[in-house]
Amino acid sequence: MAARGTSAMPAARRRGGAALRRPLSGIEQREKMYEGKAKIVYATSRPDVVIQYFKDDATAFNALKRGTILGKGVVNNRMSATLFEALGRRGVPTHYLATLSEREMLCRKLDIIKIETIVRNVVAGSLAKRTGLEEGTDLKEPIVELYYKSDPLGDPMLNDEHVQLLKLGTPHELAWMKRMARRINVVLRPHLRKRGLLLVDFKLEFGRAGKRLYLGDEISPDTCRLWDAQTREKLDKDRFRRDLGGVEEAYQEVYRRVVEGEAHP
Ligand code: 5GP
Repeated sequence: MAARGTSAMPAARRRGGAALRRPLSGIEQREKMYEGKAKIVYATSRPDVVIQYFKDDATAFNALKRGTILGKGVVNNRMSATLFEALGRRGVPTHYLATLSEREMLCRKLDIIKIETIVRNVVAGSLAKRTGLEEGTDLKEPIVELYYKSDPLGDPMLNDEHVQLLKLGTPHELAWMKRMARRINVVLRPHLRKRGLLLVDFKLEFGRAGKRLYLGDEISPDTCRLWDAQTREKLDKDRFRRDLGGVEEAYQEVYRRVVEGEAHP
């Protein structure tokens, strides 16, 4: 990773940064701000810019299950960058600014809204459990759900009134997040389908910077359910959660299709 006190930018594949007031050159990595389950966030010499470092550490079931998925950090960093760029081209504002290295991403600093926005196209996971519908049932229309991003509470489901009760976001912000979540699904679903992947469901996090909202966090096999479009084989973190084996291989397969753009039926 970029050494402290050195420029974070030389090897970077830079992206626009048009909305930023100053160019991205000469940004230096500073102190660790936060370490989460899968990522570390570092401050930089710019107060409005951070570095996300992607780890191989994996957790599930509110960190009751822990492990390592070798190479996961590289897959998640590079896949997120690829998809953030695709979304940016389609008018979705994201926190992505540049790829610094295999595991480091330069990002706009966000005040993260404590809501996990989930979009579902196919029944799986907690939707199957909550409704009794069979996993794999196609949904006629995508479903958007909100969860409270709270480890102590185990990320409970919320409705709009709970969001107001907890003052997690304004009605305007909530409407924007739901609208953007559906637009992201409209972009990602065909993008991934062309690469032989069925986008079953995914989690998004949004945040504020100045007066604007942006998509933050990551889009990866950690945060999406991705099935092979032909065989419906699981190619995501469910392989780790459910002890299915072949976890690293699944992440590498997704990398080949999404990042390297390997053609697929
Ligand atoms: P479910 O509610 O079925 O457990 O999850 C729905 C989707 O959101 C899945 O793609 C899952 O990977 C993602 N998701 C839900 N909660 C979390 C979370 O706390 N962390 C991560 N990385 N993904 C989550």
